Amino acid sequence: MKTPIIDLHCHSTISDGLFSPEDLVKYAHSKNVDILALTDHDDIDGLDRASKVAKSLGILFINGVEISVTWQKRTLHIVGLNFNNKDKDLINGLKKIRDGRDARAEKMAHGLGMAGIMGSLEGASSYSKDGAVGRIHFAQYLVEKGHAKDVKSVFKKFLTPGKPGYVNHVWSDLEEAVSWISKAGGDAVIAHPGRYEMGNKLYPKLMQDFKDLGGVGIEVVSGSQDPSQSSYFASLANEFGLSASCGSDFHGPGISFRQMGQMQTLPANCDPIWNKWPLTEGVN
Ligand code: AMP
Ligand code: MN
Ligand code: MN
Ligand code: MN
Repeated sequence: MKTPIIDLHCHSTISDGLFSPEDLVKYAHSKNVDILALTDHDDIDGLDRASKVAKSLGILFINGVEISVTWQKRTLHIVGLNFNNKDKDLINGLKKIRDGRDARAEKMAHGLGMAGIMGSLEGASSYSKDGAVGRIHFAQYLVEKGHAKDVKSVFKKFLTPGKPGYVNHVWSDLEEAVSWISKAGGDAVIAHPGRYEMGNKLYPKLMQDFKDLGGVGIEVVSGSQDPSQSSYFASLANEFGLSASCGSDFHGPGISFRQMGQMQTLPANCDPIWNKWPLTEGVN
């Protein structure tokens, strides 16, 4: 039997991806993905739509979300997997974060206005098809207007700390994000840990805090971190009794860091998170 292709992190138009939930699943199918989780930022509105198409194509679909969190004044992303998407506390918690996103978007537009770039909120909104406005939508608008050559350089020039469009936003607590996911029957996972550049003192502290709060896994393999970091995160996962997850963090051609279905496999010493799930029709 061939090794299944598993992708537990990607985005649709419900947040900052380019494909609708339906088209994203069709795209995953074209890349031979066998097990897929859709993990939009702070929103679970695409799950039923994606799940329906996945069923028709024979892909095993896992409910997912990527929750924005502030921990020790840093922004972290926590992926939730395999939860009940009708859970009221989770739905209400995510709504609160999206309201915060809307307020942040207004402040971002103000900052860009002070730098002489007008109309960016309306411009960014035209790129956010079905969900709240995020930094990628501003980036797309700024590229359209010729302020930078591509999304990557817009981030550098305008949307990172110290730049005119950056707002130091306070998201949800790590504790509440993990508890929404666990109480909805799911598993909380630290997304792309390699992106946080914390150093070898703070990483173990994060793992310990996360484990104490009921966290279950970390993305040992992620399309948005360097593959050379996998062995470090595999050993941290093992040290703290955490499972390993993997995901492309695919957003769409042109704005994604990596392709779908083409990731490094998990290091052999890891405990894959999907071993905890009954990989049949019975998954939430
Ligand atoms: P937000 O949650 O609205 O602050 O936006 C975060 C999203 O912006 C991430 O999920 C990525 O999709 C994207 N992003 C962050 N940094 C970069 C970068 N340097 N280049 C391209 N996209 C980025
Ligand atoms: Mn994103
Ligand atoms: Mn992320
Ligand atoms: Mn992501």
